[in-house]
Amino acid sequence: MRAGFPDFRLGNVLATSFTGTLSERFGDSVERIPVPRRLIDWLAVYGLTVDSCTPEQLDLARQLRESIHAAATAAALRETLPAAAVRIIGDRSIEGRAAAILTPEGERRWRLGSASVEDALGVIAADAVDVISGERDGKLALCASATCRAAFFDTSQSRTRKWCDMNTCGNRQKKARFNAGRGRGEGPR
Ligand SMILES: [Zn+2]
Repeated sequence: MRAGFPDFRLGNVLATSFTGTLSERFGDSVERIPVPRRLIDWLAVYGLTVDSCTPEQLDLARQLRESIHAAATAAALRETLPAAAVRIIGDRSIEGRAAAILTPEGERRWRLGSASVEDALGVIAADAVDVISGERDGKLALCASATCRAAFFDTSQSRTRKWCDMNTCGNRQKKARFNAGRGRGEGPR
């Protein structure tokens, strides 16, 4: 981890983990990819290794991120998808060149055409298309935290997940409930 920068929140779903690089959108928001170097770091965690990143490419990434956020939020609310967001997701998907490679161990690896940020964003955009279109098994939902409201992909059996992340939003809510209970002279529930 690099000193001075906010930690990443890493989830299992590429597209919604990417939208999670900006958290607390409705509170004191935290930008987790504040500089190009941090986008390179984040992409590497997900096996999308790029050579370099310019400030313009970081802008492109953030534009895709907010487009995925907007489209996924609309999908979770069963509203009409915002046209501008849909167009940007499509553009990034078209412009990225990447191939899925099977390793001898049977794992998937991404091979980016020119190891560029655009190639990596193409993979993320395609993942967003899968998730938002309902091609993948799971359900888009919004985090119950009022300051977060992040769109997440619920793959639990019951599809009743409430929080984008149990370790952050879920935990905070649990603690708040616990403290409120104590305030009223009740034990923890
Ligand atoms: Zn949340």
